[in-house]
Amino acid sequence: MQKREKMPFDSHIHLGRLPHPKELVKVLDQAGYAYNAIACEPAEWESLREIWQYSGLKEKGCNLAFGIHPMSVLQAKESHKQELRTFLERDGCFMVGETGLDRRFPEYGPGELQERWFLFQANLALELGRDLQIHCVGDYGRVIALLKKVGFGKAANGPQAIFHRFGGDIGSARQILDMGGLISVHSSTLTKKTSRLALAEIPRERLLFETDADETFWNATGSTDTPALVAESVAQRLLDALRDVREATENL
Ligand SMILES: [Zn+2]
Repeated sequence: MQKREKMPFDSHIHLGRLPHPKELVKVLDQAGYAYNAIACEPAEWESLREIWQYSGLKEKGCNLAFGIHPMSVLQAKESHKQELRTFLERDGCFMVGETGLDRRFPEYGPGELQERWFLFQANLALELGRDLQIHCVGDYGRVIALLKKVGFGKAANGPQAIFHRFGGDIGSARQILDMGGLISVHSSTLTKKTSRLALAEIPRERLLFETDADETFWNATGSTDTPALVAESVAQRLLDALRDVREATENL
């Protein structure tokens, strides 16, 4: 993988779902690629933590997030609440998530399982003072209202809500900024006109960029899965998102 100048930070990558994650970590590291790696199902938590243990990635600006994705709430058990807390307490920098609401999956309605797991994780993030990786497909208004209700944005230096793969409009973006949150842009953000327009108003320091690279991203490339090629594709995707944002906001 070639080393590039000024590689942006990848705020959301599913490292454990890509081929050969242990080797991939080394290739990315050599290329100076830094990221937040997300483990959003209990079955992924331990393997991601193992990678972290021997890697020295924290010193290089990387971080991990542990949580339960709205797509996985039917498999989640009560015992996972304590297990999640234990993972988070192993390092004071670990984030919570990704968690949120997604209308494409079961138990989406108000008061249903997705919302209950989201509230649990949001409260845990506040209690432990950790940033929260948020996934939202369907209802930005409800996600933002729930975050405000539990207390996000109340303390000046409190944990931040990071809206991963942002797909909201300017109204949502303003509320997120008011709450002290961050907006993470994926190339898919630009396919929605309302989200594209919102980007023009968001200060650069509140914007992040991400690949959200996982097994679907990798399968779609159809390439040979050597760690070097995977790393190259991931880096290229991140640079594409950055270029798309520049082009889109310049033309507004
Ligand atoms: Zn994700």
